[in-house]
Amino acid sequence: MGTYARYPLELVRGKGVWLYDRNGRRYLDAVAGIAVCTLGHSDPVLRRALCRQLGKLQHVSNLYRIPEQEALARAICERSAAEAVFFCNSGAEANEAAIKLARKHGHLVRGIERPVILSAEASFHGRTLAAVTATGQPKYHQGFEPMVEGFRYFPYNDISAFEALLAECEAAGPRVAAVLLEPIQGEGGVIPGDAAFFRRVRELCDQRQILLIFDEVQIGVGRSGHWWGHGRLGVEPDAFTMAKGLGGGIPIGALAVKAAVDHFRPGDHASTFGGNPFVCRAALTVIAEIERRRLLDHVQAMERFLIEQLAELAGRHPGHIEMVRGWGLLQGVVLSEQGPTAAELVKAAMAEGLLLVPAGPRVVRIVPPLVIRRRHLRKLIQRLEKALISLS
Ligand SMILES: *Cc1c(COP(=O)(O)O)cnc(C)c1O
Repeated sequence: MGTYARYPLELVRGKGVWLYDRNGRRYLDAVAGIAVCTLGHSDPVLRRALCRQLGKLQHVSNLYRIPEQEALARAICERSAAEAVFFCNSGAEANEAAIKLARKHGHLVRGIERPVILSAEASFHGRTLAAVTATGQPKYHQGFEPMVEGFRYFPYNDISAFEALLAECEAAGPRVAAVLLEPIQGEGGVIPGDAAFFRRVRELCDQRQILLIFDEVQIGVGRSGHWWGHGRLGVEPDAFTMAKGLGGGIPIGALAVKAAVDHFRPGDHASTFGGNPFVCRAALTVIAEIERRRLLDHVQAMERFLIEQLAELAGRHPGHIEMVRGWGLLQGVVLSEQGPTAAELVKAAMAEGLLLVPAGPRVVRIVPPLVIRRRHLRKLIQRLEKALISLS
């Protein structure tokens, strides 16, 4: 269907941080399939693990116990404050599960008949109906009304606006089931969460037994240089979702929760494909390789180097780059109003053999595989600079 406005580029093969088109032309990949390909392309360890799993078992359904799924749930819980996990196939689905959990929490714990979920303006939570309703961007709602009821929005990182909305919603008694937040907004322009804002939201949620849910679909699984964005923020959620980077390119999503809010009972929620042996093998391998290759430390080192290099680049082109912001290997280059747009710069970079992705009209996102190295980042800066010059 006519769903996507695609670039005229056909990528047929990849190795590490490099992608190759049909003519053998090589592109440095700072997109990673939109923050997905954690270990880069056709990683030999992931490939071997998946080939072995294909020779053993792919899918049996959640009618039966799945040892790979149990192992993956343990791996996630050992690396976070979560104590139980539900598996699905994408970020939107993980958020749908979180939204259902929030509503059940509202009914069960707070006695709310028509629970409301608060989420941020400029957020992104996916395209299924409830997830897109939670997404605080009217452009994603247009043409698909009526939206799902029970969602209200507040400006991100704005504590007084949040307090005012909470007070309004709760004026006549309990009404709010959950607050859903990205620790760092990705799609909405790479805007890091403010720790003081998040700490205060945590306090207010605790006072009223409101669920605090983090959408870690883009920043989770190591991209921030910590396992989770909330680790970097220093604020713990009651539940959080993940997807993009978890399977290293194999579709898997998950909702991880504290035991106290593990409200789902048999029959409440399900997924046919969710957490099958094949996808769980992929995620287990990604987690093991992040540790074996010490990628969290590596991401922190690459963040420092990239930020330094981008600052120098911005200094050489003062009219073009307004600022650089982000966490770890999710960095946003904010372009100034008078220069080229994000879309123009992404196109020019492609012509120089560099793949980038916009995050809104004025922000270019750098989200490479976590295995990217200094020499690649030097190439990235060279090609980005050439692209900037070609546009001026
Ligand atoms: C990409 C993204 C989603 C949606 O994930 P899909 O797998 O495309 O459904 C949800 N939340 C955030 C923060 C994302 O970046």
